[in-house]
Amino acid sequence: MSRIPPVFVSHGSPMLAVEPGVAGPMLSRLAAGLPRPEAILVVSAHWEAAGPVVSRASRPRTIHDFRGFPRVLYELAYDAPGAPVLAAQAQTLLEGAGFEPAPPADRGLDHGAWIPLRYMFPDADVPVTQLSIAPARGAAWHLELGRALQPLTRQGVLVLGSGGLTHNLGEFRGQPADAPAPAWVGEFADWVAARLAAGEAETLVAYRSRAPQALRNHPTEEHFLPLLVALGAAGSGGTGRRVPGGVAHGVLAMDAFVMAPVLAGAAAPSLA
Ligand code: ZN
Repeated sequence: MSRIPPVFVSHGSPMLAVEPGVAGPMLSRLAAGLPRPEAILVVSAHWEAAGPVVSRASRPRTIHDFRGFPRVLYELAYDAPGAPVLAAQAQTLLEGAGFEPAPPADRGLDHGAWIPLRYMFPDADVPVTQLSIAPARGAAWHLELGRALQPLTRQGVLVLGSGGLTHNLGEFRGQPADAPAPAWVGEFADWVAARLAAGEAETLVAYRSRAPQALRNHPTEEHFLPLLVALGAAGSGGTGRRVPGGVAHGVLAMDAFVMAPVLAGAAAPSLA
């Protein structure tokens, strides 16, 4: 089976589903460049729980978990098969790593999952399931959660974190889709990209105190944590390559990152 690099995507506003901008075609190209996965495990900002929960749904429904958007968005569906076997594998790995996951849930796909997947795998023919995040557990916990999932990436599974490289909804409202990005968005996005390129996982875990403008770009953590899960799934010393996706509505950086493991024989980047 193929080794599939973990990926983080920024899903932006739900309007991404009908307004592709720069990010939509980028997501399509990104997925086309990956080995074809046997199944996909999405870790979305829009499934929060007290601890890890996987979905065992065999036919996950499309969850329209947003309000006040045009009717067309509520009529879209993503009818991919579920991945209960993958869910059970993830459950076992997490138990083995000491995470004490809750019993699996019968949950559909939230918009953090299905909107990017419509661009990445438009035929909806790759089985997909989700794993929750647990924001109260903090950043380091999510990096370790990803590390526990690394074996899946060697078994043809795409571990797909979905959140936002930047995500300040208070400053997003009222901004036109093509509004220029202020400096505080770019400073933070570039800092994260540089740390990922250098494999500085521990610095990224401390992003709230170390990164420029961190609290303004992430007033709450849930849209950043899936990035740490994806990085963790690349293993200790993993790195991330930025795939530019533009900035939507001035404040939502839409970049994706393709993570890479440290391969046997390669020097591990410093975590300092
Ligand atoms: Zn979101």
